[in-house]
Amino acid sequence: MSQQPDHEVIIVGGGLSGIGVAIVLDRAGFSDYLLLEEGDGFGGAWHWNTYPGVGVDIPSFSYQFSFEQLSGWSRVYAPGAELKAYAEHCVDKYDVRRRSRLNARVSDTEFDDELDLWRVRLANGEMVTGRFLVSATGVLTKPKKPEIPGVDDFRGTMIHTARWDHSVDLTGKRVGIIGTGASAVQIIPSIAPQVEQLTVFQRTPIWCLPKPDAPLPWPVRTVLGLVPGSKAVARLAAQSYVEVTFPLAAHFHGYLPTASAGEKLGHLHLRRSVRDPEVRRKLTPNYSLGCKRPSFSNVYLKTFNRDNVLLDVDPIASVTADGVQTTSGTEHELDVLILATGFKVFEKGNMPPFPVTGSGGADLENFWLTHRFQAYHGVSVPAFPNLFSVLGPYGYNGSSYFNLIETQSRHIVRLLETARKRRATRVEVTERANAAYFASVLARRDKQVFFQGQCSTANSYYFDEHGDVPLRPSSTLETMWDANHFPLQDYTFT
Ligand code: NAP
Repeated sequence: MSQQPDHEVIIVGGGLSGIGVAIVLDRAGFSDYLLLEEGDGFGGAWHWNTYPGVGVDIPSFSYQFSFEQLSGWSRVYAPGAELKAYAEHCVDKYDVRRRSRLNARVSDTEFDDELDLWRVRLANGEMVTGRFLVSATGVLTKPKKPEIPGVDDFRGTMIHTARWDHSVDLTGKRVGIIGTGASAVQIIPSIAPQVEQLTVFQRTPIWCLPKPDAPLPWPVRTVLGLVPGSKAVARLAAQSYVEVTFPLAAHFHGYLPTASAGEKLGHLHLRRSVRDPEVRRKLTPNYSLGCKRPSFSNVYLKTFNRDNVLLDVDPIASVTADGVQTTSGTEHELDVLILATGFKVFEKGNMPPFPVTGSGGADLENFWLTHRFQAYHGVSVPAFPNLFSVLGPYGYNGSSYFNLIETQSRHIVRLLETARKRRATRVEVTERANAAYFASVLARRDKQVFFQGQCSTANSYYFDEHGDVPLRPSSTLETMWDANHFPLQDYTFT
């Protein structure tokens, strides 16, 4: 067996995280990488999510790489197809495609303690090896089917939002949708004018805030394209807006009044949008803003004024062959049932999405089950040498994913550069550094909305089974500083 790995780095995931890591590594002189993607195209969330109305919830100026800023976005909040095209554009421009394999699903990975490399087994039985392994697999990727009695008995058409079937024509159909999360908020207003009847089954109302969205006409795009610095200014403005509305509001809730101002805005938006006071009442959240992912839309709430849209908040008793029955005994006959029921998050088999066996046979899923979710800066876990994550526990602070991708890539590049300089083949975070980081994030939780606010009625996927919220309690500037300055002594290079 060869003593040398096939590649210096294997990157798992062809979403924007994997693409970003590949580009940053390449620019830093680590060009021998192989990117593995289980789908048949690049873009991750934007490859799989093609439902009507899909689009980004963060202004596009900040939802792009700092080194590849476009001026041609059609709107302040770009539609999903433009993000998918952006991913493909980056793949081609930065020569990622040539070093990638699509339809390559990883089935399991194992660290070889003798040779200091990762063995990555693919679903087709093939094995590839890499000195370093980067997990860029995202979290919200595996569609979740609701555990509702009879859900498999429905005789009509059933579609999950993340696997939209474009051959289904909703025109004139009786459509039901289960769920009112961020996906449903975009789908409901998009399909309501087309269908005969739309019944929305809501379990927990979502906070819905106005979206400062608008088309970007050609003069604006021209200015952005031609005037030096204009894209940077737009990016800074967008970034600051995002920073105030999520990371700062959530993590520094104890110091800032942002969340209560946001709640007032949410209530005002609801009052202005929905005419019927009873419908308004049903759409009013009974938990603090920030406990779960809020939504942004100027059209979602207004859709409930339509005559062909019904909001049913009775718990669902079962899905029948013909539709949905609620506990009050009402049966809604449906032609199409849309499952806007989200994704697996902390469920077994999702984090990580394939078995990861580290040094001495350590299993990553078991490690997290036993020790709670934790990773040094969200990147590294002791006993899992040469493995780095983009979206590990306590890595993401809730800002634009592109900040996360770039800061975690910077962290990884510093490690790889140091390993190269010291001729090390094994890079491992120390238990002491990991424990200190975990203690530091836990010490900040008393200021977070998740632990200060009224979250028990939110049904939020932010909370894991230990009651922890593995988001990074930091401002974006702090995450950037950390990536550039974390002490290299926190790792061993051997
Ligand atoms: P989600 O936020 O997890 O929402 C799932 C919805 O389904 C919730 O309303 C949930 O109710 C409901 N549900 C689940 N199981 C149910 C059951 N058995 N009976 C009744 N209702 C049930 O999923 P999502 O809307 O797909 O969004 C997931 C995440 O993807 C978002 O939070 C966001 O991070 C991302 N996303 C982003 C964008 C964007 O940027 N534009 C768009 C879409 C999605 P409960 O609330 O009671 O659990």
